[in-house]
Amino acid sequence: MKKNVLITGASRGIGAACARTFARAGYDLYLCAQRSLEPLLQFQKELPSAYGISCHVSLCDVSSYEAVRALFADIPSLDILINNAGISHIGLLQDMSPAEWERLMSVNVSSCFYTAKCAIPLMLAQGHGRILNVSSVWGGVGASMETAYSASKGAVNAFTRALAKELAPSNIQVNAAAFGLIDTDMNQHLSESELRSLIQEIPADRIGSCEEAAALLFQLAHAPAYLTGQIVTMDGGWT
Ligand code: NAP
Repeated sequence: MKKNVLITGASRGIGAACARTFARAGYDLYLCAQRSLEPLLQFQKELPSAYGISCHVSLCDVSSYEAVRALFADIPSLDILINNAGISHIGLLQDMSPAEWERLMSVNVSSCFYTAKCAIPLMLAQGHGRILNVSSVWGGVGASMETAYSASKGAVNAFTRALAKELAPSNIQVNAAAFGLIDTDMNQHLSESELRSLIQEIPADRIGSCEEAAALLFQLAHAPAYLTGQIVTMDGGWT
């Protein structure tokens, strides 16, 4: 029987690369983004005819439990959940407003709770499932000017480890991929010279691609079931 995957934040960047990677492997897709409907509709036009899969798309603000519940109302079963949607915030912590902090935490952390809460009953019913959370190296080591973002990804890491223990007896694996610098809109704020000096710190001497990030997530989705509760770092040897 065909397998399916829900990818949050699938309109661009790592999520969009995941959509193509899983479609190529024959997965039926559920894709969502917050605002960018056009790229999702483009996927809906291209991927089913190219790969013989189905592709359901919707706008969903994953920081809202009600919106996530509405998204899951149209998902009868789920094999893989990829919690990819995320936002960053660059600046000194003392300049961040409480509203900005709360927004970042709800998009990056609460969303993982909301989607998992809805996905787990579906996975329990079928006796298997995989939950993959997209994290960052900053969740482990922290980044100056990105304290809230680092804290949110640290929370995602702890969430991953704890939920993996809770769900291992039910044959549901929970892992995270902690990426270093990946070439997406999230890093658009970097000037050429900032990017160059960051790359000088990376032993691989380059930024990672979305396709590489998607390939790791695909491999984690197909890893032996004994792999659970792990935060797998992919950063070109940076941290
Ligand atoms: P991106 O290019 O900025 O794309 C972000 C995606 O998330 C978009 O599809 C966006 O949808 C969606 N999104 C944002 N807020 C959302 C919300 N409230 N509800 C639903 N969808 C929402 O970012 P990216 O670099 O691919 O990042 C993907 C994940 O990788 C994030 O969790 C990020 O923290 C993580 N990560 C990225 C890097 C990196 O260097 N790029 C490194 C480590 C970890 P819209 O298009 O509708 O806004």
